[in-house]
Amino acid sequence: MSAIRVLYGDRDTYGVQKSAVEEIESIFGIKWNAMIWDGKAEVPDLPDDAQLENDLSAVVGREKVSMDHAARLKHSFGLSSIEVEMLREGKYPEIVDAVVEPDKEDLPKLMAFLKSKNIRSIIYGGGTSVNGSILFRRSGKTIAISVGRLKEFRLLENIATVGSGWKGLELERKLNESGYTTGHFPESILSSTVGGWIATKAAGQESNYYGSIENRVVGASLVRSDGHLEDVLSPRESSGLMARDIALGSEGRFGLISEAAIKVDRLPVTRYYRSFIVRDFASGIHYMRNLDKIPALVRMSDAAETEFSFKNTAESFGLRYVRRRISGKGFREPCLMIMIDNDQNRITRPENSISLGRFPAVTWERDRYERPYLGNELWKRGIVPDTLETSALWTNMLELHRSTVEIFEKMRKEREIRGFIMSHISHLYKQGACVYFTFAIRSDNVLEDISALRDAMLENFISHGSPVTHHHSPGTLMRKFENREKLNMQSKFIDPLFAGGDIY
Ligand SMILES: Cc1cc2nc3c(=O)[nH]c(=O)nc-3n(C[C@H](O)[C@H](O)[C@H](O)COP(=O)(O)OP(=O)(O)OC[C@H]3O[C@@H](n4cnc5c(N)ncnc54)[C@H](O)[C@@H]3O)c2cc1C
Repeated sequence: MSAIRVLYGDRDTYGVQKSAVEEIESIFGIKWNAMIWDGKAEVPDLPDDAQLENDLSAVVGREKVSMDHAARLKHSFGLSSIEVEMLREGKYPEIVDAVVEPDKEDLPKLMAFLKSKNIRSIIYGGGTSVNGSILFRRSGKTIAISVGRLKEFRLLENIATVGSGWKGLELERKLNESGYTTGHFPESILSSTVGGWIATKAAGQESNYYGSIENRVVGASLVRSDGHLEDVLSPRESSGLMARDIALGSEGRFGLISEAAIKVDRLPVTRYYRSFIVRDFASGIHYMRNLDKIPALVRMSDAAETEFSFKNTAESFGLRYVRRRISGKGFREPCLMIMIDNDQNRITRPENSISLGRFPAVTWERDRYERPYLGNELWKRGIVPDTLETSALWTNMLELHRSTVEIFEKMRKEREIRGFIMSHISHLYKQGACVYFTFAIRSDNVLEDISALRDAMLENFISHGSPVTHHHSPGTLMRKFENREKLNMQSKFIDPLFAGGDIY
């Protein structure tokens, strides 16, 4: 039997510092050298449908159709903790009957064919969805449409019109050749695609300056079973619902985004980096809330995340000095804050903080797309990492953070599971910010425990007036928490051809 990689990205190792390893060993009661999973799932035996293969080949060409079982499994799941854990345990989601990778010209005839045969499809970008948006409930034949061949590229008047299949870093490099940037830097940039960004209403790490994806996309091209909607190329349009508006947050349900017109910026000439330790979470929030000019990236770790960052930094004279300064100042819950911008004038120093200079911000940026590989290291050792994020008004932020951590800890103890939780604030607005929780557990009953923890934390977000997600999109895993009336209204846009995300 063959096996496929389930974990994020394509790297197999990520270096973790000795102190962090010791901390993980002690929290989770494991031995770092004892790997229990290679991060792969066996490919199950699947029924083969020769008729479907022939029919699809007649429409798009044989080379664009795959009936390979490994490819079919690969295109049937995303990277939520629940999906990965299920596969680790040998439990499979619904698996598509074929994978098709059409060219742009194939799309109208492919839609017509699927409609005529009542075949449903899911749309697959980079597969980095973290809330189950790719999962589907089977009702008849279902294929995956992979957008990997949709690679249009036109640059005009600071707008890049691009195919939805461009992967983030690939597109960024292409634009950099002409001196431009998308300004959209999600942590998943190595694997996530333009179409996925739009369909999940994603936010990049420098959204304070560049805006989130809805601020970058000025138009889209949407292919549906009932027609094709395409926005004209213009800086802005005021004509009600455009293809762009329907595409944003559509999660594969309202049509296939084939192209997008994205605002691009000139590459910055210089980058500025500063890092500070602030007294505690509350004083950091106070500082961020009162910022006159918000730097492109501001990120404050809570005390738990700050301590983990220290532990995962090579022991050095500099680190010992920082620890001495922190205790000298009597900071009992020190929080690391980093700032990055293309304009020095937007960076200021928080009051009563310890300046750490450029280094932590520079190394954070250097490693920013590699850090997810730490999660893979945990998976391989039987630890389940997860994230939940929301946005909160400044007034509610402290309490939302405190209560979420408290709920996690209470439930963890009640369920007698090992784990930790840490958090940071990023994506700032004058009104509030994103509050991002990273947590991990080790338990004998992972699926039940992780689902219960997630649900309790999400209910806490909602009870504080916050949404279930700031930038990950709800997917099938969170849809039950969404307002029914809103879902009913949204359902008017659902294209019956697309099966993704219909488990709710
Ligand atoms: C390690 C890691 C870090 C992450 N960091 C960030 C981050 O910094 N910011 C952020 O916003 N998110 C982040 N995410 C979440 C995820 O990367 C985003 O949701 C991303 O936008 C998904 O893109 P994708 O191409 O992988 O989409 P997929 O996972 O393939 O699909 C997601 C949804 O979009 C739909 N879809 C995909 N392409 C199309 C299309 N062309 N037309 C219509 N529907 C489509 C799919 O059907 C599905 O419903 C992260 C995820 C991981 C695993």
